[in-house]
Amino acid sequence: MSIKQSNYWRGTVSEPAKGVSQALPESVDVAIVGAGFCGLSAARALGKRGVHAAVLEAEAPGWGASCRNGGMVLTGMKLPVPTLISRYGRELVQRMYAASLESIDLVEQIVKEEGIACSFSRCGHLEVACKQGHFDAFAEAAARIKREFNHELRIVPRTELREEIGSNIYFGALVDETSAGVNPAQYVTGLAKSAHRAGATLFDHTRVLSLREESVGGARSFFVETSRGCLRAKEVLLASGAYTSPATPALRKKVIPIGSYIIATEPLPPDLARELSPRNRMIYDSKHFLYYYRLTPDNRMLFGGRAAFFPESDSTVRESAELLRQGMIGVYPQLRDTKVEYVWGGTLDFAFDVMPHSGKLDDMHFALGFAGHGVAAATWMGMKLAGVICGDPDDNPFSKIPFPSAPIGLRSGNTWALPLAGLYYRLLDFFT
Ligand SMILES: Cc1cc2nc3c(=O)[nH]c(=O)nc-3n(C[C@H](O)[C@H](O)[C@H](O)COP(=O)(O)OP(=O)(O)OC[C@H]3O[C@@H](n4cnc5c(N)ncnc54)[C@H](O)[C@@H]3O)c2cc1C
Repeated sequence: MSIKQSNYWRGTVSEPAKGVSQALPESVDVAIVGAGFCGLSAARALGKRGVHAAVLEAEAPGWGASCRNGGMVLTGMKLPVPTLISRYGRELVQRMYAASLESIDLVEQIVKEEGIACSFSRCGHLEVACKQGHFDAFAEAAARIKREFNHELRIVPRTELREEIGSNIYFGALVDETSAGVNPAQYVTGLAKSAHRAGATLFDHTRVLSLREESVGGARSFFVETSRGCLRAKEVLLASGAYTSPATPALRKKVIPIGSYIIATEPLPPDLARELSPRNRMIYDSKHFLYYYRLTPDNRMLFGGRAAFFPESDSTVRESAELLRQGMIGVYPQLRDTKVEYVWGGTLDFAFDVMPHSGKLDDMHFALGFAGHGVAAATWMGMKLAGVICGDPDDNPFSKIPFPSAPIGLRSGNTWALPLAGLYYRLLDFFT
């Protein structure tokens, strides 16, 4: 196989967003660490309210998970609704679910308002059942979501699956028409440019090395040391996701960095593309160790999964290419002779309780834990944190829940136990 180890999405961006060349200012209203969906959405929202933010990005805008993902803009959360309700209570979970729907509207609104050409489309998502038991559980899940959140999902029995997917291996499916698809690299690039237009200043290749709270003349502020110099900020917003560094040790302890990998085929003939995904849905399966896949706007099959559990490296990316190709052929034997042209990996930001979180740590604002829902959720959280910084009441349901630290062995910088977690989920998939 001659597969390029590179991110297909990135190559679709004709004019990447760039940082400014000037020196860091002496002081700024808000220093934002990380230029992904979360940091850029916050910077845009702050700018629109007249608050000056400096976005400090260690690499390039969107370099992290935000330009590497599947581009699935999904409703709901990772955990099943009964688990959520028993943990957090009905009222809070209803607000969380409403936030997940609102976050998709927000992405759509930003794309429209800013004129971002990123193939945003309300194509819906399809969850396919890998076992009969999984399909049986779909009916109960759909009824509960209708009852609790008044949100409609549609069950697709096995006999009607051909209208949704050109694969024979599944036992049925669940459709949510509210979800959307996007080209994430074009979206995050557009978001960066819109933050700049709103008044934020973007500093790329500027790694934050340390942060210290201090009091100058009785006024509280933060001293931010970066690879490009230092600045003072009245507020700090940490939007560093799975790539959170030792500069913010308290937050880093909370992150479980999980590798996820994607391949993209050569463009498919239109008839074959239509056969594989007749309604162009965002598709994922019902396993813990799941596959997610979709067509790209130019009709490639983009197929992802946790082929290796470790954060990406040259060797995990290389190994993932063949593993994912085998997975793809298992779903779609029609692609046996199709060339895979791209493979890349990225790191997902999981919290130990598999929930998104936001709030304050060491007096700094943060949002993290978006897992596979970050396209919409990180955009929404960034906007919400900007509101809190501007003095809005904090009505974010995710800031009200406890945020557990990750166990040693699963944390950023110390991930020796990740293969054990991977094994646990594989066993769970085998037995349930
Ligand atoms: C392969 C893959 C597939 C995925 N698929 C989907 C999907 O289909 N749908 C979905 O909703 N979600 C998906 N996700 C998850 C989603 O991409 C993330 O949740 C989301 O992008 C997180 O955005 P963010 O802004 O919080 O973080 P990121 O986009 O990761 O940005 C964090 C940035 O912080 C910077 N940074 C870190 N430390 C420092 C420092 N000290 N100084 C300066 N900068 C720093 C990093 O360089 C990075 O650019 C996927 C993720 C991966 C990896």
